[in-house]
Amino acid sequence: MCGIIGYVGKMDAVAIILEGLKKLEYRGYDSAGLAVYNNGIQVVKQEGRLDALQARIDASPLTANMGIGHTRWATHGEPSDVNSHPHMGSQNKIAIVHNGIIENYKQLKEYLEQKGIVFASQTDSEVIAQLAEYYYEGDILDAVIHVVGRLEGSFALGIMCADNPDMFIAVKKDNPLIVGVSDHGQFIASDVPAVLKHTSNVYYLNDREIAVLRADEVEFLNFDKEPLAKTVETVTWSLDSAEKGGYPHFMLKEIMEQPKILKDTINTIISSGDNQEIIDGIDINKYNKIVMTACGSAYNAGVVAKYVFEQLCRVPVEVDLASEFRYKDAIIDEKTLVIIISQSGETADTIAAMREAKAKGAVTLAVVNVVGSTIAKEADYCLFTAAGPEIAVATTKAFSAQLVILYVLAVRFAAGYGKLSPTQEAGFLSEIAQLPEKVTEILEQLDGIQKYASTCVGYKSIFFIGRNIDYAIALEGSLKLKEISYIHSEAYAGGELKHGTISLIEDNTLVVAIANCERLFSKLMSNVEQVISRGAKVLLVSNHPDALPDEVTSCITLPLSGDLFSPSLSVIALQLFSYYVAANKGLDIDKPRNLAKSVTVE
Ligand code: GLU
Repeated sequence: MCGIIGYVGKMDAVAIILEGLKKLEYRGYDSAGLAVYNNGIQVVKQEGRLDALQARIDASPLTANMGIGHTRWATHGEPSDVNSHPHMGSQNKIAIVHNGIIENYKQLKEYLEQKGIVFASQTDSEVIAQLAEYYYEGDILDAVIHVVGRLEGSFALGIMCADNPDMFIAVKKDNPLIVGVSDHGQFIASDVPAVLKHTSNVYYLNDREIAVLRADEVEFLNFDKEPLAKTVETVTWSLDSAEKGGYPHFMLKEIMEQPKILKDTINTIISSGDNQEIIDGIDINKYNKIVMTACGSAYNAGVVAKYVFEQLCRVPVEVDLASEFRYKDAIIDEKTLVIIISQSGETADTIAAMREAKAKGAVTLAVVNVVGSTIAKEADYCLFTAAGPEIAVATTKAFSAQLVILYVLAVRFAAGYGKLSPTQEAGFLSEIAQLPEKVTEILEQLDGIQKYASTCVGYKSIFFIGRNIDYAIALEGSLKLKEISYIHSEAYAGGELKHGTISLIEDNTLVVAIANCERLFSKLMSNVEQVISRGAKVLLVSNHPDALPDEVTSCITLPLSGDLFSPSLSVIALQLFSYYVAANKGLDIDKPRNLAKSVTVE
């Protein structure tokens, strides 16, 4: 992971880099640093959050018109001042920032050490700077091309050389990097929000591409030094969408945005939007099996979708963690449709899973939020969620947008398989179209949820239970809570409790019971009785509050809906609950410890 930014132009590069890093901090935040050109290369870097770097620069201000910056999520070498990026070669000639992992760094390091080069850090990244200096013979571009030919692994790079005060170089392989162009200068960044304040015009670098940036021009080349013609694209995300807009945290802002996001996403897929055209182009009858693969919350969206797809389409659906799928020699072929789910479109494991599926002849359909991302570009079909930039590390709105796309896919595919009549299809689509309004109703209960959550900060363990599709969304509720509140949490299928987990239920345990599946309501209530009789407190999240056991006094009531799409409602209550538990604990909700948003390393 980590965030990279670079700038060359007429404006203050230090301010632009610091501002950009702030927007990228969600990608990594154990240390940060920058290198700028001012009578040679000046590097300031340090362990800790960006504020620590900012304070150092405030204490001894720097001026420059060109520089590169980095916010790190360590993979090799502990978070420390010396391991922070940028890294320089020992002759102080070349500075680099790196996102990714250099898999053959040990061999390269040994090779350079034998030549007498002394390394300063424990990172894999330093080898890039040292190797670049080793090969440098007066032309930085030649040195970079030589270096990238020797690197194995993944790398997005910003590289500057003390002999070139007016230009720097960017390289992409298997990690995201964009180039932004404006009338005052040119940028590189790991993600669009970092440059939005200055420009909406960006180039998406492809793998094995190099950009050479000067104040008034950008040149693109491949690793063989051949020039490339690329097309500039205009980003539709607004700057507001990357700002907190008065909310204490991005996460709360993003939770509150969900009615609009769902509406926008549904519009792209139901009422003649771009996504609809893509779905129309898929002949579902070619496929006798559907596989979903993803990581984290996107995986949970896949688990929810499996219930919906199987119920409506009556075809077998498998859901696999991308990190497992990629190595399991999956039984798939050209009759398998593999659905790839990813907010960023850059998740390393998910990209690998997609490539594995394609290599085995399967057809891939991606559900992605970021236009221009690797998955968006490489999948056979791609449906975009209209969630806008999601900044909080814990996903909310992008997850909800993934769900509605998957619901519509399930309905349309079921119709394609001849399992739904046109009237049934229209009925389900209209139910989906009503979700945004119902989500608004839940958001109106914010005060009550906040008050209840404030009583829950002392729990050591919180379990989430449900049956059928309620179990699927329990997985997401539990993940959300542990990600941001650091309270131990597990999700269990209600019927599975008695096979082990119930031994963990005791006084001072909270069980969140999700109960929307009408036909299984009384079964889940039996599980609720079982945990209450062992000392647990219960919070019920349900659209059947009238049928509550007497002992359950805490309930979040959801608007009525059919079972199939109820996860989109339950999840809003669960997000608010987790958010307010973490807020009452005074935690750094947008940047939970050890996590980063877009996991671009394996
Ligand atoms: N592997 C590099 C390091 O540990 C970069 C990690 C990242 O992408 O943040 O410093």
